[in-house]
Amino acid sequence: MSQPGSARSEASLISSAGVKAYSLEQLDELVVSLGQPRFRTRQLVAWLYGKGASSYDEMSNLPAALRAQLAEQHPLFVPRVVAKATSNDGTRKYLLELADGARVETVGIPTPGRLTVCFSTQVGCAMGCAFCATGTLGLTRSLAPGEMVDQVNLVARDFGARATNAVAMGQGEPFANYNATLAALRFMNSADGLGVGARHLTVSTCGIISQIRRLAAEPEQFTLAVSLHSAVQATRNKLMPSLAEQPLEQLRSTLDSYGQKTGRRPSLEYALIHKVNDSDAELEALLAFCQGILCHVNLIPLNLVQHSAWQAPPRTRALAFEQALQKAHVEASLRSSRGADIAGACGQLATQQEVG
Ligand code: SF4
Repeated sequence: MSQPGSARSEASLISSAGVKAYSLEQLDELVVSLGQPRFRTRQLVAWLYGKGASSYDEMSNLPAALRAQLAEQHPLFVPRVVAKATSNDGTRKYLLELADGARVETVGIPTPGRLTVCFSTQVGCAMGCAFCATGTLGLTRSLAPGEMVDQVNLVARDFGARATNAVAMGQGEPFANYNATLAALRFMNSADGLGVGARHLTVSTCGIISQIRRLAAEPEQFTLAVSLHSAVQATRNKLMPSLAEQPLEQLRSTLDSYGQKTGRRPSLEYALIHKVNDSDAELEALLAFCQGILCHVNLIPLNLVQHSAWQAPPRTRALAFEQALQKAHVEASLRSSRGADIAGACGQLATQQEVG
């Protein structure tokens, strides 16, 4: 299997994703290579992503010859909804099929005045986090930029609303598919694309240190969320074994530099798991990790994952974590899990044949 983000895995995207495989720069090169003026790139992006066109025939302001060339050489696909489930809280989960038959899940979370789309960046995931349903699948392939933007467009259309926020927190590790994820965020951010503000576009990583440094150097103000889940090395190694080579101390100093360089506050995700990371010693370690760095801790009682013995702690314990952090002047929120009843919450996306 090729490494996610490697030249081989990225090259294989070109054949399966058609025109959706390209970044903005690559689309620009394509347009120029076809003998067209550069302004056609913006028109093409507006059709592909701003309007979510499902065929080149719709692109009425592009010359017919160009449309024919594109259709022949760079096929245009949009994902197909295989199944959909709606939660009691209004959250909707979608199972989508891509051009090559690969399937991914996407979640739409409505709140007053907002629509947040949680999109996938890979089919499956290679990271193997112990508490995560997606991690049990292994990695099939990484997604192309347009396959990510399409997820957001599809959900927005289904809700009949504009996506105000998008989070790369579905299936996959976005930083194992860095270039495609950044290209997708740029289409989402672009006025010709989805027009979502950079600060409303979030990359959620399990904490790949080298890529956090890369994100800090990008010009856009994308938001960073890091899955911490424990500030005790031995516990974190158990929960996230593929990160055992990336010490917490180094993660902390990278986050410190990230905050200083960007002035932005990363979120630290902490899935509370009873008798795993909810002890007093775990709380002390979490407090020590957060002291002195810019961060906001999101405490999320563990979602039920099929076939897992792990459970969320009692509510009083979760509240005790929140209060202890706030008392130590660490910003913290105790989150509720949206869409948990349809297995649409974090760590529950497993691409079952049937959704819900
Ligand atoms: S939590 Fe995220 S990084 Fe870890 S296995 Fe699940 S999808 Fe992959």
